Amino acid sequence: MDGQTIAAIATASANGSISILRVSGPEAVCVVDKLFYKKCSDSSLKTANLETAASHTIHYGFICTNTDAGDQPEIIDEVLILLMRAPKSYTAEDVVEIHCHGGAYIAKKNLDLLIENGIRLAEPGEFTKRAFLNGRIDLTQAESVMEIISAKSDIALKNAENHLAGDVKKLIISMRELLLTDTAYLEAALDDPEHIELDDFPATLNNHLNQIEPEIDRLISNSENGRIISDGIKTAIVGRPNVGKSSFLNCILRADRAIVTDIPGTTRDTLEEDVRIGSVLLKLIDTAGIRSTEDTIEKIGVEKTYASIEESDFTICILDSSEEITEKDIEILKLTEEKPGVILLNKSDLNEVTNIEKVKEIIQNNNINKNIINFSAATGEGLKTLETLLEETFFKEFYQEINTNNKEIYITNTRQKECLINAKNSITNLRRTMQQNLPEDLLTVDLLDVYKSLGLIVGEEVEDDLADKIFKDFCMGK
Ligand code: GDP
Repeated sequence: MDGQTIAAIATASANGSISILRVSGPEAVCVVDKLFYKKCSDSSLKTANLETAASHTIHYGFICTNTDAGDQPEIIDEVLILLMRAPKSYTAEDVVEIHCHGGAYIAKKNLDLLIENGIRLAEPGEFTKRAFLNGRIDLTQAESVMEIISAKSDIALKNAENHLAGDVKKLIISMRELLLTDTAYLEAALDDPEHIELDDFPATLNNHLNQIEPEIDRLISNSENGRIISDGIKTAIVGRPNVGKSSFLNCILRADRAIVTDIPGTTRDTLEEDVRIGSVLLKLIDTAGIRSTEDTIEKIGVEKTYASIEESDFTICILDSSEEITEKDIEILKLTEEKPGVILLNKSDLNEVTNIEKVKEIIQNNNINKNIINFSAATGEGLKTLETLLEETFFKEFYQEINTNNKEIYITNTRQKECLINAKNSITNLRRTMQQNLPEDLLTVDLLDVYKSLGLIVGEEVEDDLADKIFKDFCMGK
């Protein structure tokens, strides 16, 4: 950290009702003070004296050009100033927020004025990086800030809030504390073998590893659920032509217009689309194929349908209740056999040719075990039942755990997961060294590796370049 005072526009870069400029650092109050004026009853401008104002106060006034040269100040914008003095601020430094008019141009003009007066433009994530470097939050909490910003569902938000409150941090720190005693003891014994004995050490270390390793295993295995919580349930929608796949898609999009995002697929020429059914977020796979007017299954082929099913967490197989079940339907149903999923018996608003009983019989004969829902993409019938089923399949236990104090931790961050895997590998090495009765000094390397890998999660022992890499993906002004 260079100790400089930094500033950035913290709100989205578009026209809106207000924009917020954030200024942080030792010069924040003094520089803004030079540019901030209040109006007297005779409409003349006078300096506002922010320097003497108490922390956590709001001030109404005007940002004006600097009058160091003795000129009359010229009003740039009418603003509200929020003053938050160190250490009780986002960065733990002096922070001034300027709430100005929300035009992209006027916000930039206010920012330019700050920069002309010696403040440096902040890099993306630099405010949060300072909060971390100043010790106000650990790295898991810093990373959870981005999780909160990118949360697309209630459950993802709640999970990220738990991370921000420090649930990951607390667990990791408690594991590190156990290991620290062992590391210190081992090093002391190696330094002074005449006075400190290591006879009981393997048993003590083993005991501690037996406490730590299951916790690490649980965090690693829960991270798959963490992915589902934060990214949504990867869902394949399959069915033969004309059963109503694109109508189903339109039906759920209609029910959830606001959340729709189109993300061009990076690895394949397809679209991935996020849609929400009630509180459940689905990440649809291969929707480009479904949206095409051509015969999807014929066009993309059974292999590709299978590939999208393979990639999915959940399959939605659509059948047409106004027609007989065909061989093609059964072929597609069989492809979904090994994945959790549901069968939608679509077009329930039309005259029924195939009913639930008939489908049940067919899937039983083919050893397929799936729930079947009467559905109509035309009327929306069955949507609520589908939502409940998705919640029960994926989120019922998560919701309870995430909302209670005695909760599981679901990490969603790949970097944190990698550190956990490294810690786990070092524990395996450590156990092997102990089993082979190798000299104790060999234990120190692996013991320190476990300690360091866990430390990296919370941001202890993080090198500058790693910190730069982590924070550069943050938003500007965050
Ligand atoms: P896809 O080929 O599987 O994507 O099928 P489409 O969504 O294009 O639907 C095929 C035809 O069935 C279209 O004419 C739709 O309007 C119609 N359709 C789809 N779902 C329903 C439904 O629930 N009720 C009725 N009445 N028609 C439907």
